[in-house]
Amino acid sequence: MGRDTGPKCKQCRREGDKLFLKGDRCYSRSCAVSRRASPPGEGPKKRRPRKSQYQLHLRAKQKARRIYGVRESQFRVYVARAKSVKGATGQALLTMLEQRFDNMVYRAGFASSRQQARQLIVHGHFALNGRSSNVPSILLRQGDVISAKPERREKLKSIVGANQDREVPAWVERNGDAMRFQMLGLPNVAQMGLDISTNLIVEFYSR
Ligand code: SF4
Repeated sequence: MGRDTGPKCKQCRREGDKLFLKGDRCYSRSCAVSRRASPPGEGPKKRRPRKSQYQLHLRAKQKARRIYGVRESQFRVYVARAKSVKGATGQALLTMLEQRFDNMVYRAGFASSRQQARQLIVHGHFALNGRSSNVPSILLRQGDVISAKPERREKLKSIVGANQDREVPAWVERNGDAMRFQMLGLPNVAQMGLDISTNLIVEFYSR
């Protein structure tokens, strides 16, 4: 299974939650989940049908995968790596996903969505610790500095300006004027503001 390329809002409606896949629209009243919470293909119902255990596990996994825009094969690798880390596997998994280069660019407000962040990285807009980097899946480490390349700053300024009011997590220090940000420490799962059942995900891959 590759990356989800279907309509973004349908993905949110399938998971029954806002996944913030579309940038500005997600924060507006046009958000499809706000307007119509029923799953795609189904009419409005008072209650969603009860899910089987398998569906619960599957949906938790799909939700996390869709939020971060990660392919199934790559997601499996993250789960395997998280299992080998000391401590809670679910927390290690979320921390890793959060450390991704594309996610951090989005979190720092240098992109309106994770997908846009991925595009900007692939198109060579950023330098990691002073060296050009175009790999969105790199896991950033404490102290890493990401800066917009001088020749790309004009293009990025409008995006950074549009996102300047979006809250930046405690593990990111943003300097919008200098067009750079730094990762101050490892992400804190409790402060991510995501409703993801990591236990269900870990159980899904332990079946
Ligand atoms: Fe999801 Fe709403 Fe954004 Fe569409 S607008 S991608 S439904 S959060």
